[in-house]
Amino acid sequence: MSESRDVIVVGAGVAGLTAARALAAAGRDVLVLEARERVGGRTLNVEVPGSDAYVEVGGMWVGPGQDRVLALLNEHGLTTYPTFDQGSRIGEFDGRIVRYQGRMPRLNPLVLADLALTQLRLDRSARRIPLDAPWTAPHASALDGQTFDTWLRNHSHTSTGREFFRLVTQAIWCAEPAEISALWAQFYIHSGGGIDSMISTSGGAQQDRVAGGTQRLSIAMAEDMGEHIVLGAAVSEIEWSDNGVRVRAGKRQWRARHAIVAVPPPLVAGIRFAPDLPAERAQLLQRLPMGWTIKVNVVYDEPFWRTQGLSGQANSVRRALGTVFDASPPDTDPAVLVGFLEATHAQTAARLAPKQRRDVVLDDLAAYFGPKARNPVEYIEQDWAAETYTRGCYGAFATPSTLTRFGSELRRPTGPLHWAGTETATRWAGYIDGAVESGQRAAHEIFASTTR
Ligand SMILES: Cc1cc2nc3c(=O)[nH]c(=O)nc-3n(C[C@H](O)[C@H](O)[C@H](O)COP(=O)(O)OP(=O)(O)OC[C@H]3O[C@@H](n4cnc5c(N)ncnc54)[C@H](O)[C@@H]3O)c2cc1C
Repeated sequence: MSESRDVIVVGAGVAGLTAARALAAAGRDVLVLEARERVGGRTLNVEVPGSDAYVEVGGMWVGPGQDRVLALLNEHGLTTYPTFDQGSRIGEFDGRIVRYQGRMPRLNPLVLADLALTQLRLDRSARRIPLDAPWTAPHASALDGQTFDTWLRNHSHTSTGREFFRLVTQAIWCAEPAEISALWAQFYIHSGGGIDSMISTSGGAQQDRVAGGTQRLSIAMAEDMGEHIVLGAAVSEIEWSDNGVRVRAGKRQWRARHAIVAVPPPLVAGIRFAPDLPAERAQLLQRLPMGWTIKVNVVYDEPFWRTQGLSGQANSVRRALGTVFDASPPDTDPAVLVGFLEATHAQTAARLAPKQRRDVVLDDLAAYFGPKARNPVEYIEQDWAAETYTRGCYGAFATPSTLTRFGSELRRPTGPLHWAGTETATRWAGYIDGAVESGQRAAHEIFASTTR
């Protein structure tokens, strides 16, 4: 026997829960089906063993301009606190580890000019990309027909400049510049308010943390939904027609007038649709792979780097652990360095045995912050590409010629099926804020289609 609802939402990440909550608040009968035994998707708190402290192994920061997630946090009484951002940074440039203050270390003036000019051109070109239809941008075809690597080679004229933007690419997309479309990269930069906004701590996307961890937002939204969430329900099949949907998870099934599918794009392809999805959507889904990051939280007795006048922030394009931040809570209990093995570094590190991978990470931390870094009290890592219900992160990216050929399919509903998830957002696509936008948009599509 199948139960019938107004809407079934597939996926209890931020996108699916935002959509479900908006629909339920408007009196719709909604059911959320979530494959895992928890909510939150790519946001997850993990307890530090032997303590009541936690670390965030998924999405962690919020920042200015992310108005939708900030409003939602506020609505749930969740507060934020600033990421620790005082002291000098560590950077590795041209194979040399340097300590510096401000945005950039003292480099050759030609390199600094190259970096500034490349960023200026990138931001200026990105601002010309319409967020709701990047494929209509001036020179869209030319931009989409090249990788971001090709664009960088044509615009950055020093090897250090190109290395820097490779690091930026790995840090923002967990992919290599040669994998992603230049049009999509520039859309994403516009969507996140420009390069500085995306890579900065104070004033940027890494500015603030959520007290209690970002997963609390999903937990709070799930509490609002009460019994209208089924955990451990991995949707395997969706039958659809003009009359509605029949959704199957294992032996259970439910009927509804609409479904919102709020899972990462490559996972949509793992659901059997009957009838098949239209060819254009199927083709689109084949061109949106996930990036790859292994996130490590390394816990110490004390934030020893702070006493050396260091902020805990470090970057290197050559080392496996390319990006590091101080992720300690305000009372520094526990003291935490969070680092990211990104793109090819994640792929290489994933082939190692856990002990070897930990050694690589601790070696890099010791190179940045000194020998004390080799003695953590806990080491917690999360490889999102190995997660059955995520398969990579931070999100999906578009390969060349995807947006110009198939971009208009990204948000187009397929009969009673609506598409959500951060990858479908226009602002802060790939971020938690983008997930909120996508959930709100999918809910509004259903309101619009049922009030006509
Ligand atoms: C390591 C890491 C660091 C990040 N850092 C940040 C950050 O600092 N700031 C930021 O804003 N963003 C960050 N992000 C990105 C952010 O976490 C995501 O953009 C956001 O959480 C995506 O939400 P979503 O709802 O679109 O997708 P998801 O969170 O992926 O939710 C999809 C849900 O669908 C479920 N699902 C999958 N398949 C099925 C199925 N067949 N049936 C039923 N359910 C299914 C999944 O289990 C999941 O719960 C980070 C992500 C990661 C992984």
